[in-house]
Amino acid sequence: ATPMSIMVSVGRAAQMGVLIRNGEALQTASKVTTVVLDKTGTITAGKPEVSKVVMLQSELNELSLLTDIAALEQHSEHPLASAIIEKAKAVAVKFVEPESFTNIQGKGIVGSVNGKYYSIGNLSLMHQAGIDNLADYQQQISEFANQGQTPVFVASDKQLLAIIAIADPIKDDAVQAVQKMLQAGFKLVLLTGDNQQTARAVADKVGITTVFAEVLPEDKQSKVIELQQAGEVVAMVGDGINDAPALMSADVGLAMGSGTEIAIESADFTLLSTRLLVIADTLLLAKASMRNIK
Ligand code: ADP
Ligand code: MG
Repeated sequence: ATPMSIMVSVGRAAQMGVLIRNGEALQTASKVTTVVLDKTGTITAGKPEVSKVVMLQSELNELSLLTDIAALEQHSEHPLASAIIEKAKAVAVKFVEPESFTNIQGKGIVGSVNGKYYSIGNLSLMHQAGIDNLADYQQQISEFANQGQTPVFVASDKQLLAIIAIADPIKDDAVQAVQKMLQAGFKLVLLTGDNQQTARAVADKVGITTVFAEVLPEDKQSKVIELQQAGEVVAMVGDGINDAPALMSADVGLAMGSGTEIAIESADFTLLSTRLLVIADTLLLAKASMRNIK
């Protein structure tokens, strides 16, 4: 039988805007030792904006490059794509249809626009595109990344054409929420597909010391399983398609309600609010409700 106190806690959670799948999920949540947090949309607001476009070839014009890559990005669902499209929209009215488009999972996108083949994405995609002079731009890349911004690279014909810096500020309550979870004794891990340096900068801002960055979508799940094998009871917090397998494998999956449907379906807890403090409060509520039963 479901003890009364579990029902009370489920009700209290609902008042905080947290939907719990069942009483068992609450019981498991009371035993959590490690909380794994996705970066984009979980710790950050998830509304990235282009802060700077650095053009690297003098004969190229920013306007035409932006409209070409926006033509490709309009076929991507990544939050970074919307940032680039918004930036391009400020200067262009309409984008053409690309002749080809392929999403490279965890790395970026590639495709042809106006007869030109582009690669747009992270460092790993640039290596794949045959760019061998990335070291020349290390200072510029670090400058963006150390501020917690994501550098997006644009290449064509084995040539780096531009670096687009994209900023996604941390949530208002992120520092406070991290403090609260650390004080409650949880170990915290930041897990992201984003750049190592960018992830480290964001982690430093909020006070998280353990960072797993440049993790491919399929490997997010493996990271959760590794922590479990090391004896941790893991809560995973995420919002994206790429978080869904990790949310399912975690002992407790918590999805931000602002996230994708697949993330919500994979989770035991759905947070109607986007506030990070609600995560801390939910885990503390779970602990408190089980104390009452014993
Ligand atoms: P995350 O959303 O946690 O950063 P992803 O696996 O979705 O993880 O993406 C990993 C990285 O690939 C991103 O940080 C970005 O650098 C690059 N990337 C993915 N999609 C795009 C895109 N549409 N445009 C530019 N870069 C992209
Ligand atoms: Mg995310």
